[in-house]
Amino acid sequence: MSDTIFTKIVRREIPADILYQDDLVTAFRDINPRAPTHILIVTNKPIPTAADVESEDEAALGRMFTVARKLSEQHSLERGYRLMVNCKEHAHQEVYHLHMHLFGGRPLGPMLVSVDD
Ligand code: 5GP
Repeated sequence: MSDTIFTKIVRREIPADILYQDDLVTAFRDINPRAPTHILIVTNKPIPTAADVESEDEAALGRMFTVARKLSEQHSLERGYRLMVNCKEHAHQEVYHLHMHLFGGRPLGPMLVSVDD
C-alpha cells in the first residue's frame, strides 16, 4: 500500500501543525477547518479505514479518545465537541489512513439533518 499524506505527516516528512504525538497517535490541525477547532487524530500505524481495525489496534484506538479529551481541555471545549470517523465512500472518507476528527468551538448542529442527506 502506498503512503498516504497522513503517513508522511506522522513521519514528519511533510509539514503540518502537529499538536501532539506519541508512540501510537499523532494529532494535527485540519488544513481545511470546518469549525473554530478542527483537529485530526490519526493512528501512527497506517490502518486504511475503520473497517480494517484489528484487536491488536485497541491500544491506539483507545489513545485516540484520551488524546481527544486532553486536546478538548487545552482548546477550552467545555461546552462540548464532536468526534467523527468517516469510513469509506458512503461517508466521504477522503484520506485512507484512519483518523478521528475533533470539531468544536461553536454549536455544531444536528448530526445528520434527515435520512435523505
Ligand atoms: P475524511 O473526509 O477522510 O474523514 O477527512 C480528511 C480530512 O483531511 C479533511 O478534513 C481534509 O481537510 C484533511 N486534509 C487533507 N489533506 C490534508 C493535509 O495535507 N494536511 C492536513 N493537515 N489536513 C489534510
